[in-house]
Amino acid sequence: MDAFTLIVASGLAATIMAAAMLMLYRASSRAAGLLDWSMAGAFFVASNLVAFSAALAGVHDVRIAAIGNALYIAGHFGIVAGLRRHLGLPPRYWLLVVLVVSVLLLHQSAFAAQSVANRLLLFTPIIVSINACAVWPLWRLPRDSARAAYMPLMVLELLFMTQMIVRACYIAFHRTTNLTFLGSQALQTLGSLSVFVFLMVAGMCCALIVIREQELALRKASLTDSLTGWLNRRALHDIADREFSRALRTQQPMAFITFDIDHFKSINDRHGHSTGDLAIRHVTVLAAQALRGYDALFRLGGEEFAVLIAGSNDDASLCIAERVRDLIARTPLHVDGKTIPMTVSIGLACCRADDASWEDALRRADLALYRSKQMGRNRVTRAETLGRDSAAA
Ligand code: GH3
Ligand code: MG
Ligand code: MG
Repeated sequence: MDAFTLIVASGLAATIMAAAMLMLYRASSRAAGLLDWSMAGAFFVASNLVAFSAALAGVHDVRIAAIGNALYIAGHFGIVAGLRRHLGLPPRYWLLVVLVVSVLLLHQSAFAAQSVANRLLLFTPIIVSINACAVWPLWRLPRDSARAAYMPLMVLELLFMTQMIVRACYIAFHRTTNLTFLGSQALQTLGSLSVFVFLMVAGMCCALIVIREQELALRKASLTDSLTGWLNRRALHDIADREFSRALRTQQPMAFITFDIDHFKSINDRHGHSTGDLAIRHVTVLAAQALRGYDALFRLGGEEFAVLIAGSNDDASLCIAERVRDLIARTPLHVDGKTIPMTVSIGLACCRADDASWEDALRRADLALYRSKQMGRNRVTRAETLGRDSAAA
């Protein structure tokens, strides 16, 4: 492919990137990074238009090159800005202004004006640094399922940086290499080809990030209770299955605490349903405070909850359950100048070696909870002691 064709092809790839990001943004305006990526595509289009016009008119002016290069650098910056916005970091557009002004000024230097090779040497560190700003936060992302969606963009950026560095090194060590503005020299063609491939793939990588993120958000919403933020019954099956297998394999203890708010109907009746909702949230906030960060918290329905406690023996689980009960009993809900005391009844059951599934333990915890209610509420009953008629209160 000659250099002219590559400019046209890159321009088309950039146009597709700008349009695709804009369309995705219209479909999902919450992903604000899409606008930055669309703008990045537009900068690349503009950069290619400048090169295209110059090629068409046969103009080889350093001022045209300055504008083209500034727009090209702005394109790379736009990709990083979108990525930063996506990661919850400020996009820092003021840096783009500094970069563009610096690039335009650098073109005034005799060194830059001298040759295309010199300009390439001058701007390689800038472009590599911009791309490194994309790779660094991605590298430091926690290794979870969301990180995988960022990997293609990270690899693309790394490959692009590598080819730029290799080209710059080659030119630096072979000062005789004679690059021209639109030369068909192999090094030039390879550079233009890599820009074309970069633009083709970058849009796909950015789209993948957004689509994967939305998929994860949907998945999270389908497993989470919207009132309390706790996991729902559907999530219980997945998590308990996994934890039960792990507990069997590692011979680690596993227990369930179930609890239900005492006389909750009367809170609804006396203070209204919305205060009832506040009361449910109040209880879950307190329970979460009393539990450990890694306990799995579930709202089973209404005002009934379950906690999966992994890795704690019977006595430690009993202490945790007692802590939950005590904190809730000591902390009434204050709403609209009213004080609403609340208590919960709790059942506790540990998984046993003869349990066929975690559901056996959950059933025992429910029975123990029922016994807590029978025995006067605001108490913890351990399933293992049911037959012996003792409850911790
Ligand atoms: P007990 O001490 O025996 O548990 O008595 P209780 O009044 O708490 O009885 P129960 O647990 O059966 O009460 C369930 C009530 O919770 C019935 C229902 O109206 C109410 N409820 C269920 N879900 C919600 C909810 O999301 N918000 C509100 N405000 N109330 C709910
Ligand atoms: Mg209740
Ligand atoms: Mg209930």
